[in-house]
Amino acid sequence: MNNTTFCENCRNDVNFSIKKKNTIRSFKNEEIEFEETFATCNNCENEVFVADLHDCNLFSLYDSYRLKNGILAIEDIRNIPIEAEYSTV
Ligand SMILES: [Zn+2]
Repeated sequence: MNNTTFCENCRNDVNFSIKKKNTIRSFKNEEIEFEETFATCNNCENEVFVADLHDCNLFSLYDSYRLKNGILAIEDIRNIPIEAEYSTV
């Protein structure tokens, strides 16, 4: 990851710090709580946009949405033993 990003407040490329906070976002008409990763400017403490973190937060939001709605993540489906699919009724 690039360790500098543009800060609108400083109007310059700045170093930033990674932080986490619990956030509630509206997603598919539901309030979803998830752990948001965000970055702050080391100069002025203003929150700055980092594209990689944006993607990371989307995955985090989807995961929380799936957990809340009991939808398995693709990785979880792969982890179900194959025998389960062939068990006799
Ligand atoms: Zn700044």
